[in-house]
Amino acid sequence: MSTDGSFEQLTLRLAEITDLQKTGALLFWDQRTKMPPAGAEARAEQLATIGRLAHQKFIDPEVGRLLDELSSYGDGLDPESFEASLIRVARHDYEKATRVPPELTGEIRRAGALGLRAWHKARTEKDFSRLRPALERNLELKHRYVECFERGAETYDTLLDDYEEGMTTAEVRAVFDELKRELLPLVQAAEPVEDSLLRLELPREGQERFARVVLERLGFDAESWRLDETAHPFMSTAGYADIRLTTRWEPGLNWLFGVIHEFGHGVYERDVDPSLARSPLGTGVSLGLHESQSRTWENLVGRSRPFWRYFYPKLQEAFPGEFGSIDEETFWRSINRVEPSLIRVDADEVSYNFHIILRFELEQELIDNRLAVADMPEFFNAKMEEYLGLTPPDHALGVMQDMHWAGGSLGYFPTYSLGNVMSVQLFERARADLPDLEEQIERGDFAELRAWYRERLYRHGRKFTPKETLERAAGSPLDAGPYVRYLKSKYAGQ
Ligand code: ZN
Repeated sequence: MSTDGSFEQLTLRLAEITDLQKTGALLFWDQRTKMPPAGAEARAEQLATIGRLAHQKFIDPEVGRLLDELSSYGDGLDPESFEASLIRVARHDYEKATRVPPELTGEIRRAGALGLRAWHKARTEKDFSRLRPALERNLELKHRYVECFERGAETYDTLLDDYEEGMTTAEVRAVFDELKRELLPLVQAAEPVEDSLLRLELPREGQERFARVVLERLGFDAESWRLDETAHPFMSTAGYADIRLTTRWEPGLNWLFGVIHEFGHGVYERDVDPSLARSPLGTGVSLGLHESQSRTWENLVGRSRPFWRYFYPKLQEAFPGEFGSIDEETFWRSINRVEPSLIRVDADEVSYNFHIILRFELEQELIDNRLAVADMPEFFNAKMEEYLGLTPPDHALGVMQDMHWAGGSLGYFPTYSLGNVMSVQLFERARADLPDLEEQIERGDFAELRAWYRERLYRHGRKFTPKETLERAAGSPLDAGPYVRYLKSKYAGQ
């Protein structure tokens, strides 16, 4: 067969696999937003079936054959072309997927689903011993999983690569060591700020109305986007130009920063070049870079002074009883306080990183067999005390607060702080290119900023590796320096 024919066949197969994955994403979105509880059992089966079909279709030897046929064809192509990128990414994903026996992949999925079920129960009952067997099972499967790959310098490298391709544990450790050295003094010096504003009970309808005002200004439109309610907020895409944001309406303002965060994930997916749709290239390139965008819109834009110069009068108008008599400066300070707290997802910009660093350290202890699952709570609490000076009153507010480990994700957490670090590298570049960016934001005009990110980052999807993508967009490799300087200038002496 001609190479053109093989390429066409490969593209078609990958498109069908993408369709199956997106169908799974739609079922998942529905499960978390619309499905009545009694649908849970059937939905779990449907999700497992779709996932299995997509996986089988991908690890089929026919894909390997097509990739082999195309290997010399790929070498002759412009490395920046769609064809060359598609072949490179498909080969990379295929090699990873076929190293793991299908039975093990199935076991990992099943154990993750059971783990999440156990997590819900254990958390409600604040009883770690109910979660322990599921975590032990997940860890045992992770050990079998890493055995399938050539060992890197550290076992954890294999886990990390699933979420941040090409990044090593040593690179992350170097960045995190710098964050510890530079930021821990900021956390420890934090003075309590009056923050009763952040616990106000705002009417639910008002929350939703105001969230939509902000989102529409940022670039959410009814043609391509939805916003729905859920228990654990996320962003998902059910296909090209079909962006689903979710949030939880709750006291305080987390719902607002939550929707802006998810908007950042959404806009990345929305602005991938349409020519990459229905292919493995048509999505954000890594979790770290994805998180860099949610953090950009949530923190660098959404907690900035110019942003609130525009939106604060509108917030006051929406909730006159609550904010009418509070001035903008007081408001800005309370949404930008540094105050160590127990829950990762509620943490401020600075102390957030210590929630991540402690999880990164715990995960390495686990995978290197230096820590038993039974001793996780003790390790977790000791690190909370060391970094944040806090002791969780129970394990639901401590080691069991996140669903990641129960669901079988190990190696995921570092990408949150990597995202923080990358976000400032990119934003500084955007600021240099858009000298009147502050004035634009102050006018509620985000179009040029979005266009900058579209041009530099979003449109490329997975066309380049994560490292190449960052270097091309930010002009430099991963570097904690800009992030540390940003936090110090914002928070030192506050
Ligand atoms: Zn996120």
